[in-house]
Amino acid sequence: MTIQNNGNLKIAIQKKGRLTEKSLELFNLCGLRVENYGDRLVVATPGFPADILFLRDDDIPEYVQDGVADLGVIGENVLVEKEAQVVELENLGFGGCQLMMAYPEYMDIQLPQELNGKRIATSYPRIVKKYLQDNNIQAKVIEISGSVEIAPALGIADVICDIVSTGNTLMVNKLKKGQVIFKSQAVLIASPELEKDLRKTEILNDFLRRIRSVQAARSSKYLMLNLPKTAVDRTIGLIPALRSPTIVPLADDEMVAIHAVIPSDYIWEIVDKLKREGASGILLLPIENMIP
Ligand code: ATP
Ligand code: ZN
Repeated sequence: MTIQNNGNLKIAIQKKGRLTEKSLELFNLCGLRVENYGDRLVVATPGFPADILFLRDDDIPEYVQDGVADLGVIGENVLVEKEAQVVELENLGFGGCQLMMAYPEYMDIQLPQELNGKRIATSYPRIVKKYLQDNNIQAKVIEISGSVEIAPALGIADVICDIVSTGNTLMVNKLKKGQVIFKSQAVLIASPELEKDLRKTEILNDFLRRIRSVQAARSSKYLMLNLPKTAVDRTIGLIPALRSPTIVPLADDEMVAIHAVIPSDYIWEIVDKLKREGASGILLLPIENMIP
């Protein structure tokens, strides 16, 4: 594969799969617009010195390790399995999934130790072997690259270890969920070579600042409401998450408007308290970006 060295930051993402859309959505919010990429391998982002490389996810850790790409978005499950020498920069908060054991319905396995002597089919042999080692379990690991869930029915394994989200695939194959051995999400990785390139490091720092602003904005909401003047001090004291609010006078002398950034986790708790203090006209707005 030859990729033009034009000084742009090369960012590898999955070509077609579960991480593609979320990666592009994040990049878009960071001002890296990727449009009409169709079947192309490399696409430039107008207005930002980066090129997006579309690759199979399994290849991303190695390409980033070797510096073919400077950055990559990859599931931690693949990253750990590939044992590539890369720098983990940031958890991206999407692509969440679990690698778990699963057993045929008729099998009764309660404790990890009961896996002793079993044959385990998986696409993640390294992660599974590490789990077995850490738990002092002697079992045979059988590597299968796809459709791991049919291995017990084919008689080539007793149990499986695979990525599970809803469990539907397991159910169809008459398997039931067992221990979770690895929790994964998408992460941003960098080539160990990158820090030697000062210009690219500068571009990376801009990109990282944008990513962190988007992440911060996602975990917050912008709250606006009207409150009787007499309730302001008490209300702000009551709600610690109402950080340094802006208080704006209104035409109605008895009332003020309050604007504040609040953590998304506490929205309903805060709104309930505000209602009890006589708040009206409550508006909650998404924040697109929060730049420190
Ligand atoms: P490729 O053709 O690029 O090799 P793939 O089939 O290996 O694609 P996908 O199924 O698209 O990969 O999954 C990519 C990543 O998405 C996984 O490695 C994992 O980190 C994450 N992921 C999130 N949810 C799930 C899920 N329910 N099942 C599988 N992977 C998931
Ligand atoms: Zn893959």
